[in-house]
Amino acid sequence: MQLEPVPQGGASPEHSALLDVFHQIAVEPVSAEGVTIRARDGAEYLDFYGGHAVALLGHSHPTLVRTLHEQASRLFFQTNAVPLEVRERAAAKLIAFGPVGLTRVMFVNSGAEANENALRIAFLATKRDRVVCLEGGFHGRTAAAAAVTDGHDKWYAFPNEPFRTTTVPFDDVGALASAMSEDVAAVIVEPVQGMAGARSCSSEFLSAARQLTRDCCSALIFDEVQCGVGRTGYPFAAQAFGVTPDLLTTAKGLAGGFPVGAVLVSDQLAGLVHKGDLGTTFGAGPMACALVEAVVDQLDPDMLAHVRAMSDRIRSSCCVGPVTEVQGMGLLLGLRTSRPAKEVLAALRTRHILAGSSGDPHVVRLIPPLVLQESHVDALASALSEIES
Ligand code: PLP
Repeated sequence: MQLEPVPQGGASPEHSALLDVFHQIAVEPVSAEGVTIRARDGAEYLDFYGGHAVALLGHSHPTLVRTLHEQASRLFFQTNAVPLEVRERAAAKLIAFGPVGLTRVMFVNSGAEANENALRIAFLATKRDRVVCLEGGFHGRTAAAAAVTDGHDKWYAFPNEPFRTTTVPFDDVGALASAMSEDVAAVIVEPVQGMAGARSCSSEFLSAARQLTRDCCSALIFDEVQCGVGRTGYPFAAQAFGVTPDLLTTAKGLAGGFPVGAVLVSDQLAGLVHKGDLGTTFGAGPMACALVEAVVDQLDPDMLAHVRAMSDRIRSSCCVGPVTEVQGMGLLLGLRTSRPAKEVLAALRTRHILAGSSGDPHVVRLIPPLVLQESHVDALASALSEIES
């Protein structure tokens, strides 16, 4: 196809210099604090969207602001070519926070990059060429992460996929068992699917996935990019379900808003990865690491109990108006709606509440900061009760 010249003065109707690839809502935040966002027109919004699950500790958390300022003044950036005390501390804290048995971490910059590297480790370790993934799974938009993402054929754009994949129905132990054989390098699973509308796997399925991957000598990867780092009310969903994968990926709220991703690796797989096998320029920079350490420090047992309490309050009070059911775990929840979710989201916006959509047209996704308070939940319940079912 011939490329057309780009018109002068901006290609999009808004005359923006930005590539026009994102669906946006008409709220422009200019500042934010805790669970409140202030928009350019002066309106304030209660934030149940959390910058897509990234503002884990709320907006402009004083400890994170101070940590970033202090780290930036002391040492702004260094690569993995040199050792850093702050990187060692962040890694040790994250490992201690994560499931027992995952003993090494590699820091990267995003969720997709974390999954890309987890898959690469699985291929390096097994020398196999097939990955089993789940219907409804979302793992990112880079070549390998997208290849294991359900529905990627609609936007993949690369001419070929990099390896063979098998997609099995969600939470279906029999289908997973049938898909397993000695050519499977990895099974990749979001224990609580985010994009699919906060859909939690059953513990039977996750335990079966653990056993089946062990039997086939395949790696089990938990993608906890969205459901990890305290969001379920447990450090990771792996601990909530009592199932330890071989590789666990995480990102989003891990540094509370600073770009970072991580791959947590079992001792056994770590021993099969050698110098030069993986790499990154920006990953594990001092500012990201300082913030990872600060975030993990905040996620003490009281904070995790608070997440579970807020989750229970949403479950018991928000099944009103157009909401017929609440699904998910912790503060990764899906409100199943009788009306299309986008209408409910618009109605919430007029009541100054932001929430997220999902791949399910009848699910409103709640991914708020974990510092959400009872009064915020009550405001959501009251707004929902005013919306027609
Ligand atoms: N995995 C999951 C479960 C996600 O929800 C996302 C993003 O929404 C990703 C991976 C990709 O993360 P990123 O956008 O940081 O590349």
